[in-house]
Amino acid sequence: MFIVGLTGGIGTGKSTVAEVFREYGIPVLDADVMARKVVEPGKKAWHKIKKEFGDEVFTADGSLNREALGELIFKDVEKRRKLNAITHPEIYNELFWAAVKCFFQGHQFIVMDLPLLFESGSMLDYLHKIIVVTCEVDLQLQRLMDRNSMSESRAKLRIAAQMPLETKCERAHFVVENSGTVDDTRQQVVRIISLLRSSRAHWKLRALSGLCCAGLACALVFLGVRLHQWRQTQLSQW
Ligand code: ADP
Repeated sequence: MFIVGLTGGIGTGKSTVAEVFREYGIPVLDADVMARKVVEPGKKAWHKIKKEFGDEVFTADGSLNREALGELIFKDVEKRRKLNAITHPEIYNELFWAAVKCFFQGHQFIVMDLPLLFESGSMLDYLHKIIVVTCEVDLQLQRLMDRNSMSESRAKLRIAAQMPLETKCERAHFVVENSGTVDDTRQQVVRIISLLRSSRAHWKLRALSGLCCAGLACALVFLGVRLHQWRQTQLSQW
């Protein structure tokens, strides 16, 4: 199995692209979904956030107020760094175990939807290919404002907090241009899927895990034989 990273800017169309992969039976692990899961009440990250940021970022029922926290961290780089230090290890842990599950299910490749792939940099070494979803900046702004019922100034602040789209595109193996219709985008994604399906890269990990299993089996047989021999020696001494 190999891993394909899916990234882009906020509102450029990552979820729209991810949906096409899912339709083709390819698992998509969404870092945003994991991020919501790790801050559920009572979880380790939830306790740490409470200690670091106080009650003001929680609602009356104890769940995290993502809007309030979002406002706080987008204005303050140091607070953003602290929040990332709390949540990122937990998110990567969730992603790791979900990926292990997909490996044992026999998938050729999986997609990880990682909005801040380049900003955080942590997952880059594990990705075989990177897809960046982009669109014209004024479309990105408009779609973000419409989807999140957000004011123009707030949407601009959110976009400005991320790495520029051109820089992301320069570092991609595949760029999906999502300024046209959803159908145009779908066609681009289908082409990428067929290219990825023709790859042989998944055999590397399969061969490696096959070798590890064979090595483990040999070690167990060797230990079993030695134990048997030791028992025989003990019995003959009696
Ligand atoms: P992201 O996951 O990158 O934040 P989304 O996939 O949620 O972005 O897209 C942002 C918004 O734009 C959504 O409301 C989505 O329905 C809309 N959208 C995405 N692609 C297109 C498109 N090609 N044409 C029109 N609207 C689109």
